[in-house]
Amino acid sequence: MPDRAKYFNQLAKQAAKCQVCPNLSDQSAVLSSGNGSLTAEVVFVAEAPGRLGAGRTGIPFSGDQSGKNFETLLDHAGWTRDQVFITNAALCNPLENGNNRRPTAKEIRNCSFYLESVLKIIRPKIVVTLGGVGLQAINLLLGTKHALGKTVAQPITTPRFILIPLYHPSPRVTHWRRTLPRQKRDFREIVVLLKSL
Ligand code: SF4
Repeated sequence: MPDRAKYFNQLAKQAAKCQVCPNLSDQSAVLSSGNGSLTAEVVFVAEAPGRLGAGRTGIPFSGDQSGKNFETLLDHAGWTRDQVFITNAALCNPLENGNNRRPTAKEIRNCSFYLESVLKIIRPKIVVTLGGVGLQAINLLLGTKHALGKTVAQPITTPRFILIPLYHPSPRVTHWRRTLPRQKRDFREIVVLLKSL
């Protein structure tokens, strides 16, 4: 797409003013040059900004332990933030009684316009979802029903990009479901796949 920066800046401005979700209208959408490169070959789609992370810093996966884990994984893959793009199923931080909550299905649907627009602007070769909510958002765009438990770390060819569903790098997940060393291997496999494309 010519003039990616122009379209992205327009989109980011629109997101900054967005009040479509009534319960998120007091939150700022996390979409800016801090999300990464508009020419990235790999786009990561996670759940939503966290209260102690992107909801506070305005930069996806920064400022909390999930962000530290993500940076460890990125570093292990040999990438820097300016080589990839990171976004979320919901651009605003969903809270309940002051704590993070999962975005609702309606909020994910509301925000799918922004996810779709970002993917149209960047046109990545690979989309990596981090956690079930990120995968839910991509399923919505593709009209698919991929389940994380059955597809984790398996590249799925779609008409627009290769989809790789991975677990989220939050401390809870790395403790109970998929350890950080295992997630490091997942990231290395993405690098190998990307080189083969
Ligand atoms: S989550 Fe997305 S759709 Fe909902 S208010 Fe924020 S930017 Fe708008």
